[in-house]
Amino acid sequence: MTGAYTDIIIAGGGMVGAALACALAERDFTVTLLERREPRETWPADSYDIRVSAISHASRNIFANLQAWPGMVKRRITPYEHMLVWESGGAQVHFDAADIGEPNLGHIIENRVIQIALWEQMQSLNNIELLCPASISGLNLSEESPAVVLNDGSHRTASLIVAADGGRSSLRELAGIPTGGWDYDQTAVVCTVQAERGNQSTCWQRFMPNGPLAWLPMDDDLFSIVWSTTPEQAQELMDMPADDFDSALTNASEERLGALRLMGERGAFPLRLQHAKKYIKPGLALVGDAAHVIHPLAGQGVNLGLLDMAELVDVLGRARDRNQPLGALQTLRRYERARKGENIAMQGSMDLFKRTFSSSLPPLKLLRNLGMGLTERLPPVKNLLIRNAAGTLGNTPTLAKKAP
Ligand SMILES: Cc1cc2nc3c(=O)[nH]c(=O)nc-3n(C[C@H](O)[C@H](O)[C@H](O)COP(=O)(O)OP(=O)(O)OC[C@H]3O[C@@H](n4cnc5c(N)ncnc54)[C@H](O)[C@@H]3O)c2cc1C
Repeated sequence: MTGAYTDIIIAGGGMVGAALACALAERDFTVTLLERREPRETWPADSYDIRVSAISHASRNIFANLQAWPGMVKRRITPYEHMLVWESGGAQVHFDAADIGEPNLGHIIENRVIQIALWEQMQSLNNIELLCPASISGLNLSEESPAVVLNDGSHRTASLIVAADGGRSSLRELAGIPTGGWDYDQTAVVCTVQAERGNQSTCWQRFMPNGPLAWLPMDDDLFSIVWSTTPEQAQELMDMPADDFDSALTNASEERLGALRLMGERGAFPLRLQHAKKYIKPGLALVGDAAHVIHPLAGQGVNLGLLDMAELVDVLGRARDRNQPLGALQTLRRYERARKGENIAMQGSMDLFKRTFSSSLPPLKLLRNLGMGLTERLPPVKNLLIRNAAGTLGNTPTLAKKAP
């Protein structure tokens, strides 16, 4: 296959793919980005996206280094200073940004805000070719000149193709890369709610026998909730009248936030754990959800994806400086080595958390109460957990470091 040439083709212009395109273009690579759906550019100021992300300090640094942060700030971001995690009748842990000398623990941002701010930035860079709507129907992999066939029948050749096309990645499938994992038999119900006692700049999370329920602070007295539970209970929560939903949610919060009131629509997302057996093939790299899908209980999915893309940018920059082919396995192994272990460790700890906290077996209940009690009383452990969640521990890629 031959056709129009570009350094790097990215399939998927979601949060991870769009950030990668900006980062590579700012380093003078030529990029073609293919996205099958045009993102929404505007919406009424009083409407809220039911999909939001808890953005770590490392991800904020990435957005800031890509000049996309101001586009998010001008739309809507919500910093939070505290996180309170509890189990009914059990211990609780309170994390405070002041304990690590930071003004906040992170930000809650609507996914549509993140994506459109990155798209604006992409459109300002003239070495990005943006093809939308477009998708890929064929793939021909090689170390030197991997190529794709687009759905309009045209061909594109590059030095590297990146799959950033999400958990159901068709590129991963075309490349024949298998995945491991399982369904959690849980569904996350998400929506925006108003709280009588305001958001108190706090993320709240209660562990319940059917799964965790999180309240992520938005404007003033609003929260975005993620209620992970059995598919049956999720269906009930989706179907029940708004008043009944309000009562169920207020009860589930043990009234810590006062009365809670549903604002707008509800959405449901089946949860699963998925990990690609390989992140790379000659001429191809997987990033973000195309490589790994994790339980949303610690809000780490897109944060991990952004670290993938930042690492890949470092690896490709070094390869170019040394005149090494971008799509060679020797080059791409550096990326896989840096990210796969980290992602598996995070995925594994979230899975362990989910299992430990979903069990009502008395020894496990005792163990988790002891664990939470100890964490609460041991500031160094708490601080380590906060810094780990912030994504700023260990060897962070260049883009994830704070701009000087
Ligand atoms: C309920 C819930 C709550 C979550 N909360 C958080 C949180 O608080 N913090 C956090 O870090 N993570 C969270 N996550 C995870 C986070 O949403 C994902 O990790 C993130 O969306 C992955 O981004 P991505 O760009 O890799 O993939 P996606 O967001 O799936 O984007 C993929 C893009 O590729 C496009 N595409 C797909 N197929 C093709 C194709 N064939 N050709 C061209 N384009 C294609 C799609 O249209 C889309 O734009 C949550 C997930 C869930 C389900």
